[in-house]
Amino acid sequence: MFTVINPATEQGIAEVASTSLAETDAAIARSALAFESWRKVAPGERADLLRAFSSVVREHAEELAQLEVANSGHTIGNARWEAGNVANVLNYYAGSPERLFGRQIPVAGGVDITFHEPIGVVGIIVPWNFPMPIAGWGFAPALAAGCTVVLKPAELTPLTAIRLGELALEAGIPEGVFTVLPGKGSVVGQRLVEHPLVRKIVFTGSTDVGMQIMAGCAAQVKRVTLELGGKSANIIFSDSDLDKAAATAPYGVFDNAGQDCCARSRILVQRSVMDDFMQRLETAVQGVVVGDPAHESTEMGPLISRGQLDTVRSFVPDETSVAFRGTCPDGAGFWYPPTVLVTTENDRAYREEIFGPVVVVVPFDDETDAIRMANDSDYGLSGSIWTRDVGRAFRVARGVEAGNLSVNSHSSVRYWTPFGGFKKSGLGRELGPDAPEAFTETKNVFMATDE
Ligand code: NAP
Ligand code: MG
Repeated sequence: MFTVINPATEQGIAEVASTSLAETDAAIARSALAFESWRKVAPGERADLLRAFSSVVREHAEELAQLEVANSGHTIGNARWEAGNVANVLNYYAGSPERLFGRQIPVAGGVDITFHEPIGVVGIIVPWNFPMPIAGWGFAPALAAGCTVVLKPAELTPLTAIRLGELALEAGIPEGVFTVLPGKGSVVGQRLVEHPLVRKIVFTGSTDVGMQIMAGCAAQVKRVTLELGGKSANIIFSDSDLDKAAATAPYGVFDNAGQDCCARSRILVQRSVMDDFMQRLETAVQGVVVGDPAHESTEMGPLISRGQLDTVRSFVPDETSVAFRGTCPDGAGFWYPPTVLVTTENDRAYREEIFGPVVVVVPFDDETDAIRMANDSDYGLSGSIWTRDVGRAFRVARGVEAGNLSVNSHSSVRYWTPFGGFKKSGLGRELGPDAPEAFTETKNVFMATDE
């Protein structure tokens, strides 16, 4: 049994049974059996079932959102977006079964065609920061491609995943096609990696565990997609709309209390506008509304756990590097205020993923310097570029080693565009039009037409 805690109050809200090794094996066996029939469901019928699943999720969006507020401390506004995102992603990939095109390739003496064969049972291992969207980005395209799915939510945040498993059955997705196994990474997660009937792992989480998972998958040449950490740069040039850049910078990093792999947690500012920018940023940070995540006007809630709070605090051992802070409630709950540090490029807070509401600001001199600093990281997930010079926007966007960049904006995730990281931020891509193909093997068939 695991007691699920509301991070805003520290009260227990549910008891969830942890899946054992034997139960994990049994679920994988049922999933493998279900695969034999799910792969044969006609494309149009599979599309209809995914649309039905999408509709049922949409009908329960408010319930799912409230569950996420209680379990994860997400603001109600964010949680509604997240539940809606699952419905949208299911609806989008409902268009794929009928569009999983192969090719006909010209050859001598016959006909050559390719097929996208579903890979089999897919194990999806999800972290606690965005329980619903991250699960959906894996299971929707996997199911569309004809795979069956075993989903392991993070131990801290299993409630919405468990509910999504029930809603799938309600929508008519057959038994065994989509299974949710709450439990420990060291039990359920590791078994998904080791079990030979699981043919692909989709993992989102820390780079350390991601590396272990990749090594575990190597033993079976198991397919793997990894979405790992980030230390993304928000690059602000002197010719940018400084008011807008400063007003939006807090939301580019403090959203979800900074527990976001895409958080723009290094702000790089051209030296000539550093002082002007910092003045505006201070006003913006003090305006961030931190408090009860269930309130409609709240912009930032608590951290997920006491452990995460301790980790975040360890990056700010004293006040020497603190430029300014916002506010947060005191009393029960895992609260940490939005915090701005002025550091050097050697500081631990500048180099490591903090995964909390802490951002570092460092000046740069010119375009070359900005690109060098942005790329001086093991990570490469996202980033933002603020400039009014179109040529510079493209030069810098092409120069930064990251998978998801935005110019004069902090938006990096749209379900119909590809998402993923360079370097230690990951391997492979999720979302976008090609995601279902990542759950297939390409098969080439040659048919002789000779008499
Ligand atoms: P984590 O340990 O990487 O956990 C992610 C998921 O992997 C959880 O479901 C976890 O299960 C599972 N897991 C853990 N060990 C495993 C193993 N040996 N085999 C298979 N599955 C395993 O992440 P965390 O401990 O929650 O967070 C630590 C740090 O990782 C954060 O502070 C942050 O820097 C980073 N992080 C990044 C992202 C991201 O989106 N890129 C997301 C979350 C965390 P349990 O529930 O048992 O832990
Ligand atoms: Mg962990």
